[in-house]
Amino acid sequence: ANVLIESDKRVDKDRIRMKDKSDHATTENVLDSRIKNKLHKLFEKGILAEINGCISTGKEANVYYAKSKNKAEIAIKIYRTSILTFKNREKYIRGEYRFDHVHSLSNPRKMVKVWAEKEFSNLKRLEQGGVRAPRPILSGGHLLLMEFLGSDGWAAPKLKDAVLTDSKSRILYRECIEIMWKMYNKCRLVHADLSEYNMLYHNGSIIVIDVSQAVDRDHCNAMEFLRNDCNNITAFFKKYDVGVMSLQALFDFITD
Ligand code: ADP
Ligand code: MN
Repeated sequence: ANVLIESDKRVDKDRIRMKDKSDHATTENVLDSRIKNKLHKLFEKGILAEINGCISTGKEANVYYAKSKNKAEIAIKIYRTSILTFKNREKYIRGEYRFDHVHSLSNPRKMVKVWAEKEFSNLKRLEQGGVRAPRPILSGGHLLLMEFLGSDGWAAPKLKDAVLTDSKSRILYRECIEIMWKMYNKCRLVHADLSEYNMLYHNGSIIVIDVSQAVDRDHCNAMEFLRNDCNNITAFFKKYDVGVMSLQALFDFITD
């Protein structure tokens, strides 16, 4: 893919491919023993053969680049258990039928497990509904394994970092609306954190990522989350020469 990237430092930081020892040390520090055990088992099974470095360190999770025994590229997302982030997660779990059985949200470790499973199940729904997203491989404990999207070990850029012509941005705006429509109508999901930060630009198309907080459309706050997604998308594409729909028209198109 011949994607033009703004060459600022933030972009470079997002696209590091780590092969050297110092990076391995950083990887080690964030992994507690429970996660190491889990990874060890995955190595034994051949699901993982190497972990080559960190793609992203975020507030909620770190993402690592790995390969399976048969050389398939994998992204490993490891969720944080910090108190600060798990308080915020509750409102995305409470209020929908899929998580009625979850009672112990006050235990950060259990909460993170639910969070990883939630992202896995949401990625499955996207796959089944025909929305481009990383194919989920497995979730367990604090981690999620999914298809890595990128080329030659370099993660695909976020949509915010892709340099787009006006005509390309018009095409992507339509693509984005179609994605939101499909998510709602085919997958019965509202992303709830959709923006240029949680879409990758890969081979000329948009890929949806980061769906741990995505809710079923019957969730009691789904409409509020959807309105917010519509807002973010509209604000992003307004920066280009795109004739965007009104917020209400977009919202109605998706929900009617
Ligand atoms: P968070 O925002 O909670 O840290 P994300 O799921 O958005 O977690 O992932 C963080 C970053 O990791 C993304 O912005 C993207 O750059 C990278 N990333 C996540 N999943 C993949 C993937 N499957 N393939 C390539 N890069 C990925
Ligand atoms: Mn994200």
